Amino acid sequence: MVDTKEKLEKEITIIGGGPGGYVAAIKAAQMGADVALIEKEHIGGVCLNRGCIPTKAMVRSAKVYDNINNAKEFGIEVDKEAVSVNMKKVVKRKDRVVRRLVKGVEHLLKSHDVEVIEGEAKLSDKNTIFVNSEDNDLEVKSENIIIATGSKASKIPIKGSDLPGVINSNQALELDELPEKMVIVGGGYIGMEFAFIYANFGVEVTVVEFLDEILGNCGPDMCKEIYRSARKKSINILTDSKVEKIREAKDELIVEYTKDEEKNEVKGNKVLMAVGREPYFEGLGINKIGIELDENERGIKVNKKMETNISNIYAIGDVTDEIQLAHVASHQGMIAVKNILGKEVEMDYDVVPSAIFTSPEIANVGLDSEQAREKGIEFKTGYFPFRANGKALAQGERQGFIKLIQEKNSGKIIGGKIIGTHASDLISEVTLAIKNELTAEDIAETIHTHPTTAEVIHEAALDLAEESIHYA
Ligand code: FAD
Repeated sequence: MVDTKEKLEKEITIIGGGPGGYVAAIKAAQMGADVALIEKEHIGGVCLNRGCIPTKAMVRSAKVYDNINNAKEFGIEVDKEAVSVNMKKVVKRKDRVVRRLVKGVEHLLKSHDVEVIEGEAKLSDKNTIFVNSEDNDLEVKSENIIIATGSKASKIPIKGSDLPGVINSNQALELDELPEKMVIVGGGYIGMEFAFIYANFGVEVTVVEFLDEILGNCGPDMCKEIYRSARKKSINILTDSKVEKIREAKDELIVEYTKDEEKNEVKGNKVLMAVGREPYFEGLGINKIGIELDENERGIKVNKKMETNISNIYAIGDVTDEIQLAHVASHQGMIAVKNILGKEVEMDYDVVPSAIFTSPEIANVGLDSEQAREKGIEFKTGYFPFRANGKALAQGERQGFIKLIQEKNSGKIIGGKIIGTHASDLISEVTLAIKNELTAEDIAETIHTHPTTAEVIHEAALDLAEESIHYA
C-alpha cells in the first residue's frame, strides 16, 4: 500500500528524463507550462549516460590510441612499446564527460523551473501518477502526461547468455581492462560502433551477424567501404551466422554458431550482446489504464501528434518504437508539447538523419537509390570521393564518398549518404536541403568554405547540376 504523503498538481508531467523527456520538459517550460519531470535513475537517460555520449567518448579515446600508433604517416616517430591503453582512465574520462553533460542538463531544467522528481512513476489513472522514491512517496495529478520511458537492451534466448563475461552495451562501457579477444553478437549500429572502438584499442574483434548484411539498410556501397576498413583493423565479420549457444572453456568463452547449415565456433574473452533494443515500460501500469500498443505489440501506439489512444496521454522516444534515435526522441518531445499547448503540429519521419560512428563514420538521410526506385521516382545520383577533397587528404582521412540523390524532374535533393570523415556532421547540410526542398543547383550555387570536408557536398551537387570541378 502506497503511503501518499505529498500531492502535486501539474499541467504537464513527463515520465522519463532522457533526450525525449528532458527536451520536452524544457520546451514546455519555455512555452509557459507548469511542468514536472519524473526520473528514476539519471537525468539524460540512456543517451547521455549509457548510449550516444559515452560511446562517443570511447570512440575518441580509441581513435587517439589508433592515431598515435599510426603517427609515422604524419612524420611523428613514436616508440610503440611505450604506448599503452589505461582502460581505467579511459572509463574515468568517459564518466567525466557524462557527468558534465548531465549536470548541464540538470542546471537547464532548474533554470527553467521544471520540477524534477526523483523516483519511479506508476500510472494509476489517466490523470494520476504515483512516484515511489527512496525517501518519499508522491501523488501527481496532471492535466497531461508524456511517457518517455525509453528502451532496454534486447536479449536472445540462447544457452550461456547469462555466463559471466557475456556483457551488454552498458557493461561494455565499463570494462576497466581490455580483453584480448571480443566476440560481438549483432552487426547493427551499436555492435559495429563497439567493434571499431575495441579494434582501435587493439582488441581482436569478431562480429557475428544473423542477417546477410551488417548495419541494416546501409546499402552495399556503404557496406563495402566498412568491410574494407574492418579488414584493415582485422575485424572479422561473419554474416548469415546464427548464434546457437555460448559456453565456457578455461578463461575463454566459446560462441557456437551455424553458417550454411554448418556448425562453427569462435572464441573470445568477452562476448558483447548487441542484438537490438526494445521499448521499456515495465511497472508503469499502461495496461491498467488501457494504453494501446502498436501493431507489433512492442511500442506504445501514437499518432503523428504523439497522442496515445488516451486523449491527454502522449508518448515519445524509444518507447514508441518509431525510430530509436536521440534526436528523434527530442523532436517528438517538442511535437507532443506543442500539441498539448494548442499548436497543431505533426511528426514527419521522411527527413530523419542518422549517423553511425564507425571508422570512417556513416550518415544517411532521405531516400537511397533503391527506395527511390521502389517509389517509382526518376532520379540522378551525384558522387564525390573524399580522396579528391583537400582537407580529407591533409587529415589523412581519404576513405569514403558522398552520394546525393536528385529527383530528375524537379531537380530537388531527395536523399544523401556519406561515408567518410565528419559524415555525422556533414549530413546536416543535406538534411537542411531536403527539408527545404532545395535543388542541386541551390547547393552548387552556395559558396562553401575551403578547405573543408563540406566541399564534398558542394562537389556532389555540382556533379548533378553542372559538372564536378575536382573529380572526373
Ligand atoms: P531514454 O534515453 O531511454 O530515457 C528514458 C528514461 O526514462 C531513463 O532515464 C529511465 O530511467 C527513465 N524511466 C523509465 N521508466 C521510468 C519510470 N517508470 N519512472 C521514472 N523514470 C523512468 N542515438 C543517437 O541518436 N545517436 C547515437 O549515437 C546513439 N548511440 C547509442 C549508443 C548506445 C550504446 C545505445 C544503447 C543507444 C544509442 N542511441 C543513439 C540511442 C539513444 O540512446 C536513444 O534513442 C535515446 O536515448 C532515446 O531517448 P528516450 O528519451 O526515448 O529514452
